[in-house]
Amino acid sequence: AWGRICTDLQKSLGHEAYKSWIDPLVLDCVDGSVAKFNAPTSFIGRWVDRNYGSQICAGFLKEGVPVTKLAFSVVRAANVAKAAPAQAAMPATPSAAEDELPGSPLDPKYTFNSFVVGKPNELAHAAARRVAENREVSFNPLFLYGGVGLGKTHLMHAIAWKLQEENPGFRVLYLSAEQFMYRFVQALRFKDMISFKELFRSVDVLMVDDVQFIAGKDSTQEEFFHTFNALIDQNKQVIISADRAPGEIEGIEDRIRSRLQWGLVVDLHPTDFELRLGILQSKLEGQLAMHPDVQIEEKVIDFLAHRISTNVRVLEGALTRLFAFASLVGRRIDLDMTQECLADLLRASQRKVTIEEIIRKVADHYNLRMNDLLSARRARAIARPRQVAMFLAKTLTSKSLPEIGRKFGGRDHTTVIHAVKKIEELKHTDSQIAEDVELLRRMLEA
Ligand code: ADP
Ligand code: MG
Repeated sequence: AWGRICTDLQKSLGHEAYKSWIDPLVLDCVDGSVAKFNAPTSFIGRWVDRNYGSQICAGFLKEGVPVTKLAFSVVRAANVAKAAPAQAAMPATPSAAEDELPGSPLDPKYTFNSFVVGKPNELAHAAARRVAENREVSFNPLFLYGGVGLGKTHLMHAIAWKLQEENPGFRVLYLSAEQFMYRFVQALRFKDMISFKELFRSVDVLMVDDVQFIAGKDSTQEEFFHTFNALIDQNKQVIISADRAPGEIEGIEDRIRSRLQWGLVVDLHPTDFELRLGILQSKLEGQLAMHPDVQIEEKVIDFLAHRISTNVRVLEGALTRLFAFASLVGRRIDLDMTQECLADLLRASQRKVTIEEIIRKVADHYNLRMNDLLSARRARAIARPRQVAMFLAKTLTSKSLPEIGRKFGGRDHTTVIHAVKKIEELKHTDSQIAEDVELLRRMLEA
């Protein structure tokens, strides 16, 4: 029966998720309404229970076995006799050590393989690799920081996966700072500080994600500091991430701040066009595999890399939405669909351009002074650039015609209308003007 349930799960979860989570399980027995499994680690058990529990129970029910609950015991990988029939599997020997690690689950998608490297993240990536691959503790702590959605959590998980893969007995504890605090508060409440301290001091590698969260939380911070020091003193690797540099986290004590900087501090820079392109290309493969029926025009990818913000999560979300939409309506993904389907994202990531900036850039471009553009002079060499600037002000900002007129040395709104019309016209007849406008627009929107 379990075999058939697995076949169904493989279909509904997809190969990757199935391989990561269901395949490692061995059904031990069904005891009343409880299905008992052996799992290689406790977090796989917890993850499966939380994410696929009801689906698995439904599968059993379909097979006529009324299971309502799943239980998992941890068995060292070597003990799990995968090929043997379930009944003959070794008795569960829960490993207390592993069972106690109260980390957050690791996302199977976040590995070094799926991490796209470019200029903005190459240093952080190299440092993460070094820490994951070297048995010697080289930088301690490794402090990774960067803005939202730039890959900190992805890199942390990648390190944890790699460490666990290369050192099976290693106790790698990954958790968010929030989890850390939660555990700490629980330990205080249940007067269980001793086991809390023992637990955190017994790991080989401690990874705390988004450490800025404990800023301003004094007792948690204090406990974190002690844990941190104890591990570093034992030469155990500590890896920390935050959304900003240690020096910029407010509300943490100076001694903690300076300790955080002892090892290696590296940052993830905002993505650039090239990196976004690389990431999109790699995510595209996944989407195409999931939606083999959908077609996408090459230039859409280029457009997205240009126009969507530096946050990779938003970029991924955009691609996912496009594919879902295209698959629903059965249309090929082209620029029109992209603009329609992502209107909100595109608006949000559009940088606000000001008229002052436009005037400055246009003046620069034509080698004029800003005052020339605002003056009353009518010489062609000045009047034309002024019209270009007004045109850009109208098309790139949401300012009204009278407002634009005012900013251009107090001109009338009809002058602005005339300028906009004129440039519209020239864009079709004068390739130099068309090029200038396009170039300026790109510079201003970049
Ligand atoms: P952070 O923790 O810095 O806020 P995450 O690590 O959660 O960001 O990354 C947000 C999303 O973007 C994740 O789905 C992650 O897989 C993806 N991502 C970020 N950087 C990269 C990259 N360089 N290559 C591939 N995917 C990336
Ligand atoms: Mg994160």
